[in-house]
Amino acid sequence: YFVKEIINSDKFTIDEAETFKHIAKVMRHKTGDIVYLVDPSEKLYAATIDEIDSENNNILTSIELVNRPSTEMPVDVTVACSLSKKDKIEWITQKSTELGAKTIIFFDSKYSIMKWKTNVVEKKLARLQEIAKNAAQQSKRRIIPEVIYVNKLADLLKYQAEANLVAYEESAKQGEISRLGQTLNQSPKSVLCAFGPEGGFAPDEIDFLNQNDFVSVGLGPRIMRAETAPMYFLSVLSYKYEL
Ligand code: SAM
Repeated sequence: YFVKEIINSDKFTIDEAETFKHIAKVMRHKTGDIVYLVDPSEKLYAATIDEIDSENNNILTSIELVNRPSTEMPVDVTVACSLSKKDKIEWITQKSTELGAKTIIFFDSKYSIMKWKTNVVEKKLARLQEIAKNAAQQSKRRIIPEVIYVNKLADLLKYQAEANLVAYEESAKQGEISRLGQTLNQSPKSVLCAFGPEGGFAPDEIDFLNQNDFVSVGLGPRIMRAETAPMYFLSVLSYKYEL
């Protein structure tokens, strides 16, 4: 469970309503059971339940720091995906979290089949953030990925990483597959890759990104669906840095 900062190193009270509910009501944990807590500094604690206080909706625990290797990728990865239908962006959010993304950005592009009206952005992001939290919990991540929305491609530049890429199927056709390998061999500390919608990026969008330090990369000879390409990318990074 993701909890607020743990200051006292031997006792902690779990008082977040949703976490309380999950531990006490959904999982039906009892006194003496152990649950695992991660605080914002990414430290992992084993928390033994001392008391479930159902009147005040909190759980008193005795905690112990657990020295286990982090489950986070050694590189900060951002996947920036063109906006798509609700079920697809939810799927992208869940699976990107499982595969280790640190930041997930959705953006409007020329051929996006969906646009978000300004008044729905907050609600939609809250839902995606909740999906990311649940997926992070189930994948035993040390952080919850941040989900961001930008309504124009130019705003992606604000989130640039050390290495910035754009997945472009034309690059794959032109045999530029190794560019991804070349970039990763430089072991950047952070990588961002942009993915187009089902209809792909418009050529002027690729030009714009290329002019702003985004390197076009192919992801192999097969054209993947818009939601598959980021998963392929995250898997390649995991293979490269973690396996
Ligand atoms: N419009 C394109 C076509 O029909 O040839 C396909 C676009 S693809 C369905 C959606 C997005 O996934 C692309 O914009 C690109 O970012 C990414 N993508 C899919 N396959 C790729 C590949 N082999 N190499 C690089 N990018 C790929």
